[in-house]
Amino acid sequence: MIILKTINDINSFVDASKESRKSIGFVPTMGALHVGHLSLIDRCKAENDITVCSIFVNPIQFNDPKDFEKYPRTEEADCKMLEQHGCDVVFMPERTEIYNNDQQKDFSFGSLEQVMEGEHRPGHFKGVAIIVDKLFQIVTPDRAYFGEKDYQQLKIIQKLVQIERLNIEIIPCPTLREDDGLAMSSRNMRLNSEQRAAAPLIFKTLNEAVKTGKSMNIEEIKSFVIEKINTSKHLKVEYFELADENSLQPINSWDETTNIRGFIAVFCGEVRLIDNIRFI
Ligand code: AMP
Repeated sequence: MIILKTINDINSFVDASKESRKSIGFVPTMGALHVGHLSLIDRCKAENDITVCSIFVNPIQFNDPKDFEKYPRTEEADCKMLEQHGCDVVFMPERTEIYNNDQQKDFSFGSLEQVMEGEHRPGHFKGVAIIVDKLFQIVTPDRAYFGEKDYQQLKIIQKLVQIERLNIEIIPCPTLREDDGLAMSSRNMRLNSEQRAAAPLIFKTLNEAVKTGKSMNIEEIKSFVIEKINTSKHLKVEYFELADENSLQPINSWDETTNIRGFIAVFCGEVRLIDNIRFI
């Protein structure tokens, strides 16, 4: 496995791969890797000649500077795991390699970025789009892999590829979970043992809500989820929405659309966790 830190070096690698007509698959990450990330690497490896993973904690997508500072950084362990999973190239640029006072593009995703994560983390998706666009221009992959754990992000990236007319296939990958149902996340490392024990209530409650389904109306089901999760002294729901899976617009009645997904953000102490689940 090769570790590259400069755009020049990765450009040379990519040029050589393209000359020998090798397909490139790409998995962008912020590191602190877990089995969820590695499932993307495995899928990427199975579907491409070359697998490139990037590790870059992108400062401009953090609306809370404390969250950026405290984001776990475990680069040595990350590289070991990537090597074990047969990753070919890790791109680990310094901040100055990516952001050098150049004019940043201003992306607009309309209603997709005005709800849920977009509403509660102002500027977050603009920051995500800027870094993913830059990485796409650098790596020029044939395919790129994104987790459904960050479902709204996945939709934003699909839109980015459309807006920029990029010839990159975006491959959605299912959310991997711990045995107790908690969605795997780099942020889980920051939970203390009591918080970690409380966190599975999030997915458990989402599952109960799916089972309850249409026997409650939308308002009732939202209250049910929020109240049940908030019974834990370690958990505080920021939002829970039911929305159309494609437009991501929140719904007020079951018959507004047939593809419904529930989206949730919960504070567990000062760690913010997100999850989502398909309803119908
Ligand atoms: P991150 O390092 O958090 O930016 O995540 C990098 C990629 O891994 C994103 O496409 C995430 O959606 C994906 N990812 C994160 N957690 C999981 C998970 N539990 N299951 C599947 N994919 C995930």
